[in-house]
Amino acid sequence: TTTVQFIQAWTQGADGQGATKARELFQKVFGEDPQGVWSAPGRVNLIGEHTDYNAGLCLPIALPNRTYVAASPRTDSRVRLVSSMDPENPVQADLDGLQARGVSGWAAYPVGVAWALQRDGFPQVRGFDLALASCVPVGSGLSSSAAMTCAVALALDDLFGLGLGGDEAGRVRLIQAAITAENDMAGASTGGMDQSAAMRCRSGCALRLDCRPELDAMSNVQQVPFDLQAAGLELLVVDTRAQHQLNDGQYDQRRATCEQAAHLLGVANLRQAADRVNAAADPPSALAALLEQLPDETMRRRVRHVVSEIGRVDRFIEAFGRGDYVLAGRLFNASHDSLRDDYEVTCPELDEAVDAARQGGAYGARMTGGGFGGSIIALADAGKGSDLARDIAGRFASKGFKAPRALIALPSSAAARES
Ligand code: ADP
Ligand code: MG
Repeated sequence: TTTVQFIQAWTQGADGQGATKARELFQKVFGEDPQGVWSAPGRVNLIGEHTDYNAGLCLPIALPNRTYVAASPRTDSRVRLVSSMDPENPVQADLDGLQARGVSGWAAYPVGVAWALQRDGFPQVRGFDLALASCVPVGSGLSSSAAMTCAVALALDDLFGLGLGGDEAGRVRLIQAAITAENDMAGASTGGMDQSAAMRCRSGCALRLDCRPELDAMSNVQQVPFDLQAAGLELLVVDTRAQHQLNDGQYDQRRATCEQAAHLLGVANLRQAADRVNAAADPPSALAALLEQLPDETMRRRVRHVVSEIGRVDRFIEAFGRGDYVLAGRLFNASHDSLRDDYEVTCPELDEAVDAARQGGAYGARMTGGGFGGSIIALADAGKGSDLARDIAGRFASKGFKAPRALIALPSSAAARES
């Protein structure tokens, strides 16, 4: 029988596994104790995919898997960094005179956060020494990049006394710095859901994130209780380990098509179109009428995904809230099918994994994250997750795919200081 590797989450707290690993790496490389340790979680999005950059709705939870950052401030502008992924090769950068895209490789993410904060009106941010250790799978669509940038942002907030981490409005500024780091220094387009999840999720809850730009920090999120244990359910996450390449232009193409469509429809963003459709007396015919205004079939399918997906987020919240897990699962399925057929961001591994989970008795399953590889989630009865993971691994073996990895997700907490 096929065995599946389950990814363990490290324990939190000052003496937990995560803080200990980051602190020990810092001591080994920099020869002294760090001033503190901070962490931020990876995430899975329950539903609402490719909607954040359309001013839409999404619903992430924070994972128990986190990135831990041990750091100390410097008085000069140098940045020295080391990651547990490559512990023998610390890297350096300088914040003075730094331009967009001025740092390459993974160092662009942490350096970019400091650079973004300086430009956002915090000249007191100086250089720093930093060691990071992570149990978030990297490049698996579980947002190791935002876990890293948000842990760094919170560390810099404390080290340089910015006073942003303690309230929601301050956290929104840290989120913005994390987004800028990723977009402008690392050159990886990101819509903002991942950073909001890492900074604002609460344990036991999903984060209903409303991405309309006109909303302020108080009104753009809602904590939605998501108590899987009380519901007798399990959320299985399977990393397909298929190539995850958002940088090859597909993501940017989808964004550009959505912007073009909004322009043609005479709306600021597709959310405005979605709200009209979903509030209509007969949403399916309102959607059909909307799509008729668009010039080509591909664009019509992209818009159909975005509009229908935005509508599914509140339907999922409503269904889960009243214990209708069959409907909640069907909404997962509809989301995946739309991402596969209309938005065309799945791949054979994602489709096979989702199919195997459905056949194995999950209420529903879907890809999560940007797509083109990465991970799937499946909603199942408690205790069924590991059987489903084995089913998926068996299917992958017979198809000649790489062996997948799995974890059971519980909604966890946002970025925090560990010690
Ligand atoms: P995801 O966010 O889904 O994991 P991305 O492609 O957005 O995938 O981000 C992965 C990139 O983030 C890696 O290629 C690497 O540059 C950087 N990264 C994430 N975590 C770490 C880490 N612990 N150490 C070094 N780099 C990391
Ligand atoms: Mg990422």
